[in-house]
Amino acid sequence: MSKGTPSFGKRQTKTHIRCRRCGHVAFHPNKKHCVHCGFGRSRKLKHGPTGTRLTR
Ligand SMILES: [Zn+2]
Repeated sequence: MSKGTPSFGKRQTKTHIRCRRCGHVAFHPNKKHCVHCGFGRSRKLKHGPTGTRLTR
């Protein structure tokens, strides 16, 4: 098994679909959360990709 171009054709499974909040293909349908903006992980997350990580 190689990780290069010949094996890209075998990648059929969608682990992440398009997130309806941030628009990235980062929403996990089984886990029901987005790894990019954190949508679905917490009810208190108000904002998308910007504002999720506050320094103060
Ligand atoms: Zn998202």
